[in-house]
Amino acid sequence: MKDRFGREHNYLRISVTDRCNLRCHYCMPLHAKFFDQVLSFDEIVTVVQVASELGIRSVRITGGEPLVRPNLPELIYRLKTECDLEEISCTTNGMLLERFAKDLKDAGLDRINVSVDTLRPERFRKITRFGSLETVLYGLRRALEVGLTPLKINAVILNGFNDDEIEDLFQLTLVEDVTVRFLELMPIGEALSLNGLGGYLNLSKVRRALTEKYGLVPADERGHGPARYWKAPGAPGKVGFITPISDRYCATCSRLRLTANGEIRPCLAYDVHVNLRDAIRQGDREAIAAGIARALEIKPAGHHWDEGKITQTVMSSLGG
Ligand code: SAM
Ligand code: SF4
Repeated sequence: MKDRFGREHNYLRISVTDRCNLRCHYCMPLHAKFFDQVLSFDEIVTVVQVASELGIRSVRITGGEPLVRPNLPELIYRLKTECDLEEISCTTNGMLLERFAKDLKDAGLDRINVSVDTLRPERFRKITRFGSLETVLYGLRRALEVGLTPLKINAVILNGFNDDEIEDLFQLTLVEDVTVRFLELMPIGEALSLNGLGGYLNLSKVRRALTEKYGLVPADERGHGPARYWKAPGAPGKVGFITPISDRYCATCSRLRLTANGEIRPCLAYDVHVNLRDAIRQGDREAIAAGIARALEIKPAGHHWDEGKITQTVMSSLGG
C-alpha cells in the first residue's frame, strides 16, 4: 500500500475512544467535548480486515485512554483471531493497567507502551491533572509480571517542566530491560496552551549529549514507529527518541490512523481526513478500501509544523 511518495504503509493506529481518565495538559482540555458515537468492535474488526487485505500488518490500540473502553480485551481477542495481523500493541496511561494487564495479555496483546513523563508524584499529578504515579507503577509491575514485554515507556519532555528528569528516566534502561522513549512536544491542539508547564525541547540535542556522556551506541531495534533506538554498552534496556521537529522522519512514515468516530487520518500534522463513518456503518468493504486508498492519495509529504502551522484537532481524538 504505497502513497504518492512511494512510502509503504503497513501500520494502523486505532483509537478506540476519545475519552480519557486523565487530562494531560499537552493533549486534552479539561472540559473536552466527545464524539456522540464511536465505532463498535464489529466495525473496527471490519476496517482492520479490509486494511490488512490492503497491507496493514500491525495495529496499535490507542485513545483517548484505550483501557477506559469497556471490554477492551474482547476487541484484542477479536483482532487476534479474526484479522490477519503480525502484531497488536497498545499505548496506555497505565492508570487501569494493574486491573487489565492479565486480561489483555490473555486476549493476545503482544506489547504495551505506557506513558510516564515524570518519576515525581507531584509533577505527575500536575501534568496529568488527575493521575497517580503510584497507580501507574503498580500497573507497570503487573504488565511485567504477566509478560507484556518488552515494555516501553513514553515520556513527553517539556523544557522547564521535566527536562531535569531525562537522566533519571534514561537510567532506568541501565538497570531494567525496558525501552524509554523521549517524545518531542508536537504542536497539536492543547499543546499550545500549556498553562506555564514548560514547552518544546529539542531532543536531538539531548540525544547527542547522552550519547557523549554514556557512550550510547545504536540499538538494532527498528520498530514500526518513528523512534530511533540507542543503548548504553552492556545496558539491558534501550532509549528511543521521537523527534518529529528536530530530526523529521516523515520520509519513512508508514502509518495511518483510524479515529474512534471512523475517520482515516493520514498525517498527524494536518486536519485532513477521509470520513468513513457511513461506509463502516453499512459494512461496505469496497467503500472502506476506497476510503483508505483515498487517504493515501491525500497524505502530505511531511509535516509543516516548522512553518508555524499547527494541528487544530486535539491529540486525544487523534490517538497520538
Ligand atoms: N492515553 C494513552 C497514553 O497517554 O499513553 C494513549 C493516547 S495518547 C494521545 C498517546 C501518546 O501521545 C502518549 O504517549 C502521549 O504522551 C502522547 N502525546 C499526547 N499529546 C502529545 C503532544 N502534543 N506531543 C507529543 N506527544 C503527545
Ligand atoms: Fe489521556 Fe493519554 Fe491524552 Fe494524557 S496523553 S490526556 S492520558 S489521552
